[in-house]
Amino acid sequence: MIVADNHVVSIDFTLTDGDGNALDKSEEGKPLVYLHGTESLLPGLEKALNGKNIGDSFEVTISPEEGFGDVNPELIQTVPTEAFQGVESIEPGMTFEAKGPSGQVEHVVVEAVEDDQVRINANHPLAGVTLNFNVTVVAIREAEKEEIEHGHVH
Ligand code: ZN
Repeated sequence: MIVADNHVVSIDFTLTDGDGNALDKSEEGKPLVYLHGTESLLPGLEKALNGKNIGDSFEVTISPEEGFGDVNPELIQTVPTEAFQGVESIEPGMTFEAKGPSGQVEHVVVEAVEDDQVRINANHPLAGVTLNFNVTVVAIREAEKEEIEHGHVH
């Protein structure tokens, strides 16, 4: 059996950035399980998995354009501390949820605090990052009819 649409695929993976820093990995014995063909993974990663066999290991590099996009400078803003009413002390690295222009929830990271000014960044944490995945296909099975209808693994 090979990786194809409407198959449930289990993968072990490690994710590093362009400088080789570890960003994420599946836990030992706990592979990531997903329904192939539903774009639940990054499209570039699903594309690389297409047609692979159980036991195959490979590396795939995904550019920011195919990953989480480039850093958008408009999403980095400086706002007065008064915007954080009810927050006792604002420290770099804190994250907040904010409503974006079209009502969607955005995760905002505090990058710097200077006097009464706070620099916040609403870019995805992996925006602008080149992603290197090391992947091993651990298991493949045909999806159940209900899983295909729901678009996710049961
Ligand atoms: Zn379901």
